[in-house]
Amino acid sequence: MRNIPVYEPDLSGNERKYVLECLDSSWISSIGAFIGKFEAAIASTTSAPHAISVCNGTVALHLALHCLDIGPGDEVIVPTFTYIASVNTIAQTGATPVFAESRASDWQLDAADVERRITPRTKAIMPVHLFGGACDMTALMKIADRHGLKIVEDCAESLGTTIGGRHVGTFGDIGTFSFFGNKTVTTGEGGAVIATDDALAARLRMTKGQGQSLTRRYWHEVLGFNYRMTNIAAAIGLAQIERLEPVLARKRNIAAAYRELLSQLPVSFQAANNDVVGSDWLVSMLLPQGTDRDRLMQDMAEAGVDSRPVFYCAHTMPMYRSDEGFPIAQDIAARGLSVPSYPTMTDGDVARVCDALQSALRRQGKGALDNRPRLRTEAIGG
Ligand SMILES: *Cc1c(COP(=O)(O)O)cnc(C)c1O
Repeated sequence: MRNIPVYEPDLSGNERKYVLECLDSSWISSIGAFIGKFEAAIASTTSAPHAISVCNGTVALHLALHCLDIGPGDEVIVPTFTYIASVNTIAQTGATPVFAESRASDWQLDAADVERRITPRTKAIMPVHLFGGACDMTALMKIADRHGLKIVEDCAESLGTTIGGRHVGTFGDIGTFSFFGNKTVTTGEGGAVIATDDALAARLRMTKGQGQSLTRRYWHEVLGFNYRMTNIAAAIGLAQIERLEPVLARKRNIAAAYRELLSQLPVSFQAANNDVVGSDWLVSMLLPQGTDRDRLMQDMAEAGVDSRPVFYCAHTMPMYRSDEGFPIAQDIAARGLSVPSYPTMTDGDVARVCDALQSALRRQGKGALDNRPRLRTEAIGG
């Protein structure tokens, strides 16, 4: 039986055709028609006035912070429960990452805790919209306005996620995206920043291209970086984003199937607020207290199903070590598990994942529901 990976991009659209156009025309570097087309597609998907491509989601964050003048002496508030790039890019500017707690319900940054951590040195907040969900941007924007802070939204995991119909990344000053191989839209490696302000967008565009003037060749107006995306990557991205709607629909469908099929098991899913339409990037859940997660993942792997732990808290890593406790974030980090969530998986694959998870939990006496009927996986076919 085929092994079910946690993620796998669907490259069955125009990806091959567009990449061949790059090769045949020799436009393989960071100038070419696909760059502008892909940027326009990102702008249209998010309704952001400006979208600027970069070569990965990490440099998108660094570029955003740099262009908001964040640097040595500044503090930026970030959840400790996030992917490490959110935190590293703050440190790379010379600023200090200040960790904040997560919410137990939706695993996102806790706005009330953010406000408690504001000091005279605080310059910005970095909400991270994790796993296709969304942070409480209404509360965070109020706090930012009250204290005169900038906001960089890390939307790497949330392309397609909206709050009250508005795409994440358009609430704060800058939103950033990743197009790594396991993200909802991929370009292999890639990223983007979106912004509303015209002057800020021009600065982002100039800075990502060596600080070169947008109108005068080899005239460099500001300190810049080479964070450019290639035309080949943009070609793949354009083909991907052309199919974003069906991909999102399928991913939402898969997430709904997991919730339905696993409703009998003692696992709890990340919740979402009413006004959030999530993109279900990676279906993740908390295992029951006391589960040996490594052993459970091993058992699932033996059944041909890959899974992965959620992130470790940044404040537990050697370079950011802090003795302060973040009990909610630490609990999510310790018990969280992500399961296969890629758009081409079949209903039968979803059912196999659920079966493997149920058996692995039972082996640890965590069924807790042993007297209930076995999962009726045939309910969704396959
Ligand atoms: C993937 C990811 C990034 C980094 O993106 P890369 O393209 O891998 O550099 C940043 N933040 C979060 C939350 C991510 O999931």
